[in-house]
Amino acid sequence: MDAKTRERYSRQILFADIGEAGQERLRESSAAVVGCGALGTALANLLVRAGVGRLRIIDRDFVEESNLQRQTLFEESDARDALPKAVVAERRLAAINSDVKVEGVVADLTAKNAGDLLGGFPLLLDGADNFETRLLVNDYAVKGGVPWVYAAVVASYGVAMAIRPGETACLACLTETDEAAEAGEAGEAGARHSATTGDENGSSRLVAAPGTQATCDTVGVLGAAAGVIASIEAALAIKLLLGKRQALDDRLVSFDVWTGRSQAIRVGRRPDCRACGRRDFRYLAGEAQPHVTMCGRDSVQIHERRRRLDLAELGRNLAAGGGEVRHNEFLLRFRVPPYEVTVFADGRAIIKGTRDPAVARSLYARYVGA
Ligand SMILES: [Zn+2]
Repeated sequence: MDAKTRERYSRQILFADIGEAGQERLRESSAAVVGCGALGTALANLLVRAGVGRLRIIDRDFVEESNLQRQTLFEESDARDALPKAVVAERRLAAINSDVKVEGVVADLTAKNAGDLLGGFPLLLDGADNFETRLLVNDYAVKGGVPWVYAAVVASYGVAMAIRPGETACLACLTETDEAAEAGEAGEAGARHSATTGDENGSSRLVAAPGTQATCDTVGVLGAAAGVIASIEAALAIKLLLGKRQALDDRLVSFDVWTGRSQAIRVGRRPDCRACGRRDFRYLAGEAQPHVTMCGRDSVQIHERRRRLDLAELGRNLAAGGGEVRHNEFLLRFRVPPYEVTVFADGRAIIKGTRDPAVARSLYARYVGA
C-alpha cells in the first residue's frame, strides 16, 4: 500500500478490526447494489468512501424532485434533466473516489437478466423498493450460495439483516408463509415476521399483505431512517467482504428513528422454506414475475398473479399521501402526472401514459406495493 492510499484510509486502518490488511482486502473486493434510492445512494456513498474495489449499481428509475429529500447522491439539476439514477450515481461516486471502479447499470432486475447483472459478485446489497425484486435477489443468492444483505425502510423505521445461504435464515424464511409460498405471493408475508417480532416497533409492516402494505409513496419515509439503515447495511457489507465471521450473526436488526426503539431479533431457518429448504426458486425461474403487456396505444397492463387487494385501504393510503383517488368496489383510479393508474381488486393494473413496462412496474411497486 502506498503512502497516499495509507493516508486516505488512515482512520479506517486505525480501526483494529480492519487494519492495513483489511483495507487491502476491501480494495480487492466487489459488490452489486440492487436499487439506487434512499438506501442505495447512502450505502454506495459509504462503500465507495470506504474503498471497496468495485461497485455495480443497478437501477431502473429516473431522478425526480421528490427524491432529493433523502437520496443523497442526487441534485436539483438531475431531477430537472430526468437523468437515470444509475448514471448520476456512477458520475458522483467516481468523483468521490477515483480508486473505485463504479459502474451504473440502467436496468430493471428481472429473472431474465439476473445472471448477467449479478454474476461474479461475491456480495449483493439491497437497495430495492419492492419485495418482488428482493425475493428474486434472494433466490439468486440462495441458489448460488452468495451472501447478501437485506434492508428495507419506510416512514421512520427500517430493518437490515446479513443473509448467508446455508448458515442463516433467508428472506423467504423470514417473509413467506407456507400458503403465500404456494400461491407465489411474497406479499402475504409478515405473518411470521410479526409473530416473531410482536410488531413492537412496526417493522413488520415492511412485509405486510398486498394492498395494505405501507410504501414510501403512501406513508412517506424519513431521510434519517434511510441513513441509519444504510449505515447498518454498509457495516454488514464490510464485515462480509472482510470475512469477519465472528462479528456476524443471524439477527434481524430494526431501528425506528422517531421513537428511538431498536431491536435485534434472532431469526431461525425454516427447514420447509421454499427457497433455502425446498430449493424452489420460482422468482428466478420467472414464474412469480407479473406479466406485463401493452394495452391500447399508450397503456401498459400488469397482470398480477393471484392477489386480492383491499382497495379501500389502498385508497386511504394513497389519499393520505395527498393523491387524488377515486374508487368503487371494482377498481381504484389515481393520477401520478403524467400517468393515470387503474388498479383492479384482483391485483391487475393498467397504467396509462406510458408504453414502457419498466415504468409501469415501477409505478405499481411504488404505489400499490409488490
Ligand atoms: Zn429460507
